[in-house]
Amino acid sequence: MALEQLQDNQLLHFLIIPLMSPGHYIPTIDMAKLLAQHGVKVTIVTTPVNALRFGSILDQAVQSGLPICFMEFPLPSTEFGLPEGCESLDDLPNLGLAKELFLAQSSLQQQVEQYIENSEPKPSCILSGTFLQWPVETAKKFQIPRIIFDGMNCFTQMCNHVLYLTKVHESAEVKEFHENVRVSESEAYGVIINSFQELEQGYADEYQKIKEDKAWCVGPSSLCYKDVSEKALRGNKPSINKNECLKWLDSKDNGSVIYACLGSISRMEPDQLVELALALESSNRPFIWVVRAGHKTPKIEKWIEEDGFEERTKDRGLLIRGWAPQLLVLSHPAIGGFLTHCGWNSTLEGVCAGVPMVTWPQFQEQFYNEKLVVQVLRIGVSVGAQNVVHWGEEEKSGVQIKSEELRKAIEMVMEEGKEGEERRKRAKELSKMAHKAIEEGGSSHQNMRRLIEDIRNQSSTRNSS
Ligand code: UDP
Repeated sequence: MALEQLQDNQLLHFLIIPLMSPGHYIPTIDMAKLLAQHGVKVTIVTTPVNALRFGSILDQAVQSGLPICFMEFPLPSTEFGLPEGCESLDDLPNLGLAKELFLAQSSLQQQVEQYIENSEPKPSCILSGTFLQWPVETAKKFQIPRIIFDGMNCFTQMCNHVLYLTKVHESAEVKEFHENVRVSESEAYGVIINSFQELEQGYADEYQKIKEDKAWCVGPSSLCYKDVSEKALRGNKPSINKNECLKWLDSKDNGSVIYACLGSISRMEPDQLVELALALESSNRPFIWVVRAGHKTPKIEKWIEEDGFEERTKDRGLLIRGWAPQLLVLSHPAIGGFLTHCGWNSTLEGVCAGVPMVTWPQFQEQFYNEKLVVQVLRIGVSVGAQNVVHWGEEEKSGVQIKSEELRKAIEMVMEEGKEGEERRKRAKELSKMAHKAIEEGGSSHQNMRRLIEDIRNQSSTRNSS
């Protein structure tokens, strides 16, 4: 980047307020790094446990001189009826407490505003999670443009737009919440998207039009980490030693391993997890299965032990209990398929890795992401999930997908025939495009420059008026 431009960018300051959930925190931190690489000063508003869980990835960036920092505020969790140290959606003992978590974060508003008043340079832009309402007021109060980030792609944005136009959503119970979010979106200055234009060309173009050019696809954000140690540090602390994980992967043939991980907040029922385990076993292929830690863990652990599953599959199965270093795993050549719940981050990470996917959406926009992967990009096979498994109400859904259906989808993704080969080829091509998009001169790199320039123009206009 030209020195002059870098110096101009140093006068800009982005204040980032993430939604407290791994699926938002992780890409938001990536975005912060991408922005700082353009010379912009970036401050991330955070709380102690989140800084500890997600912050280590930034140490290296800060040490290398990138202008990025955390502004930490203690979260009064217990005052809002939350357990001490509970600072993220994935840590809630039950989902009925989600509202309290939002309220606890809103209580930081005054302190954040005090910080804004005293900071130098003053924030030129607030980048905040769409579902957060209080930054709307803060941005208005200080007349700072607010850019939103909701972790979704253009395809989903367009689906939601059409739903809104057809008013289908009006029968939904959470109408008021959706209405608030819609107002917050329409009042925002713009939207930042973790995707790249080439991946969803037609949808990205249409979305740009709706947003009057104030939508910027700047991803895939995970590609800002290049080496193995960085990849292992992204997100929570992994529950497996990085070298042990790599050693296991190195011992497997290229493209032979199926990696199964259902994201950071899914609370799948133990009976349903058993079906998954049996499908992995009957696929007769090497696999990595990430068993999320949570209150359902003892039940599934009991099954694993009593059934002898781990013992029977020990030559070809690796169980990661807790948090997997997903980027590290996915970028290893041994991985041949990714069984995913279709959270957007995971889906995009699968695209970057160039592996075909077995798609098993659970709720929300995961069903749209599946459609994008299976029908539009044609790099995935669906397990056939038809019903939404409402988050926090999983026991009501019971077993939705039997092991035989899961096994068939895994087989189709891993098979060596023509269809499988073509799917793999398409996945590899998209991966190449993703890497190109984020490099200097690529579409996402240019979009990031466009965004920064836009904010710079906004700042100059404000300063001169
Ligand atoms: N993730 C990870 N290890 C895990 C589980 C999740 O690194 O064991 C990361 C994953 O790489 C992704 C994020 O957590 O970046 C999950 O986001 P996603 O949108 O896929 O799903 P969510 O967890 O929000 O449902």
